[in-house]
Amino acid sequence: MKGKLLAVSGPSGVGKGTIVKTLIKRRADIVESVSCTTRLPREGEAHGREYFFITKEEFARRIEENDFLEYDEHFGNFYGTPKSFVRDTLESGRSVILEIDVVGALLAKEAFPECILVMIAPPSLEELKRRLKGRNSETDEQIETRLNRLAYELSQKDKYDFVIVNDDLETAIAELESIVDGKAKS
Ligand code: 5GP
Repeated sequence: MKGKLLAVSGPSGVGKGTIVKTLIKRRADIVESVSCTTRLPREGEAHGREYFFITKEEFARRIEENDFLEYDEHFGNFYGTPKSFVRDTLESGRSVILEIDVVGALLAKEAFPECILVMIAPPSLEELKRRLKGRNSETDEQIETRLNRLAYELSQKDKYDFVIVNDDLETAIAELESIVDGKAKS
């Protein structure tokens, strides 16, 4: 059987990375697509794990070669989902999760109409601010830019098949798992 393709979006700092990565560790039949980006690695990030960190020139060449399922620009950097990896993994029967923003998720759905869109929402704005500041990897100005995007991201909720409120981590993981298994109601 072919695997399922899911696009998981949500504001930065909402915990989508933790939810997705924990589920993937528990399930060998679910994998995360590793995107390409032109941004520099943050501390602790590794090439080929969080992202493939490539130059703007290489990114442009791969756009020309139609190598991305979708791509977009954020904060002056490019991010894209490699098409061949997604196709091959789905064919092998495993499910693929794309951790991408709203615009990218909608583009992925256009390219793959069977793509399931999942939004992870914060329990509150205050909680999200606290998480972003605790991450300590960005300046106040960068955090402000991310928070300004929040309203836009959450306003797109209606276009999504599922919304998971990340109040409790284990509950959120279980919800995502039931979506992959086709047991959740939208
Ligand atoms: P960050 O720099 O915090 O890792 O990611 C910045 C934004 O890029 C996030 O909203 C993230 O979801 C988005 N992003 C990461 N990978 C991709 C991708 O492959 N395609 C698109 N369109 N957005 C991505």
